[in-house]
Order: sequence, then structure tokens, then C-alpha cells
Amino acid sequence: MLKNGQNEFTKNENSKVRIKVINELCISAATCIIQAPNTFDLDDDGIAYVKEGTWDEAQTIINAAASCPTTAIIIEDMQGNQIYPEVKIGA
Ligand code: SF4
Repeated sequence: MLKNGQNEFTKNENSKVRIKVINELCISAATCIIQAPNTFDLDDDGIAYVKEGTWDEAQTIINAAASCPTTAIIIEDMQGNQIYPEVKIGA
């Protein structure tokens, strides 16, 4: 069963960003959890999910996404614009 933020964007009233973890890409490296322990955790299968409660600062969450070796974490703003990975227009 999918947990919060797995393969679907989740938001938090305390945060300016929305987060999605792509389950198929997560290799349980856990660097996201080290970087943003109030936002990410591993489920029983070793796949990252997004925690309830107050998240880390938005920049900390972005840094955590950037630390993921497989780019399994997608970050959007509340308007649905992708923040991480950076979208290159005209590439
Ligand atoms: S850093 Fe990436 S691969 Fe590692 S647990 Fe987090 S989402 Fe999964």
C-alpha cells in the first residue's frame, strides 16, 4: 500500500512546496532522511515516504531531493511548477 507522498504529490499547511517520491526510483539510500529528517522516512519496504507533522524548511527539502542519488524526489511549488529537478526551458 502506498504511503503519504509515494507516487503522488502531498502537501502540508506549513510548507510552500509539494513533494512526490517516485517509488520505482527509490533505492533506499536514505540520504533524503539524513538531510530532512522531519520530512522523509523509510517505510517497511525501505521506500521513502513523506511524514505527517511539520516539515523541514523548503530549502532543506530541496537539498534533500538534490541529495537523492536516483532523483526519486520531485518538488513543486503550490502552483504546480516544478522546482526540483530544475526544468530547463528550450533545452
Ligand atoms: S535519497 Fe532517494 S533513493 Fe534514498 S531513500 Fe530518499 S528517495 Fe529513496
